[in-house]
Amino acid sequence: MHITVLAGGIGGARFTRGLLHHLSGIGDGDVDVTVIGNTGDDIRLFGLQICPDLDTVMYTLGNGISRERGWGREDETFTVKEELAAYGVAPGWFGLGDRDTATHLVRTQMLAAGYPLSAVTEALCARWEPGIRLLPMSDDRLETHVIVDDEEPGTRRAIHFQEWWIRHRAGIPAHGFVLVGVDEATPAPGVIEAIRDADVVLLPPSNPIVSIGTILQVPGIREALRATAAPVVGVSPIIGGAPVHGMADACLAAVGVDTSASAVARHYGARRSAVPAGADAGGILDGWLVHASSDSASVDELTPLGIATRAVPLLMTDIEATASIASAALDLAASITR
Ligand code: GDP
Ligand code: CA
Repeated sequence: MHITVLAGGIGGARFTRGLLHHLSGIGDGDVDVTVIGNTGDDIRLFGLQICPDLDTVMYTLGNGISRERGWGREDETFTVKEELAAYGVAPGWFGLGDRDTATHLVRTQMLAAGYPLSAVTEALCARWEPGIRLLPMSDDRLETHVIVDDEEPGTRRAIHFQEWWIRHRAGIPAHGFVLVGVDEATPAPGVIEAIRDADVVLLPPSNPIVSIGTILQVPGIREALRATAAPVVGVSPIIGGAPVHGMADACLAAVGVDTSASAVARHYGARRSAVPAGADAGGILDGWLVHASSDSASVDELTPLGIATRAVPLLMTDIEATASIASAALDLAASITR
């Protein structure tokens, strides 16, 4: 059995850790998991190519993640960051850890030597042994930029996603997102095959706009999801009208989507309609998990639209709770296949 997961950073990584725990619990060694990671958050700073979401997945599944922060390395120090600040070198807002910097150095050196990001990621994962195959969504350099107001009234400018997210804590209004480079981008080797040949495709509770939404923009990926024979099941990152962590509400507002579990599902859209049964409905979802009980009303709202919806507890409080969420997603997928 092949499971393919489209993931951002923390939400995607934690869900996948729970999925692997569930699979090992049922003793199913015959399952392989491929994670397609968002690279729209990538940023080049101080000459280093930094891939925050790929690293979050790699460190989380390789047991190197900071449990306290949820990103970056455990036992981290920030001497390099402090020394850069002492030189007055901007930006000072990016959390560049010393241990983490070694990862960025290896990656940057390999990219400079001509290796594609997918090969670099595989090489980095050889150390961390994450128990999954981690593929960047694309080997092409892609960056999410955010359209914000400029100082001069009536004019706008674009800033890097990380500047908006970390420096401004998503606190300045966004008018939209641009994935710079997407027109010429292609999926990384193996990405389309991983979706096409999957038995189940899972969308973890990652940010629907700037994590999963970004992956869907890479030419060919959305089409592959729409065409795969595998059921596509998602988990809501929105519980009771708010993100569990972070500022996903600011991203949803920027593209005119309500911050609710059902609005996110409708944004993804059903692959096939319920009436007439099986007609192409233009979206990517077959199934959707919402939080019980705050969002249970979504079940009756979404099921007639062709999105098989179930309400189960969706808080990833510990690995057992997260494994239960993954198990519920696989159960829902199995019910759709039948
Ligand atoms: P990022 O790239 O690090 O921002 O992480 P992701 O895009 O993968 O995931 C971020 C999303 O995870 C946020 O929108 C959160 O609401 C969601 N999230 C975090 N913890 C939980 C949880 O325990 N349960 C659910 N359902 N969603 C969560
Ligand atoms: Ca991210």
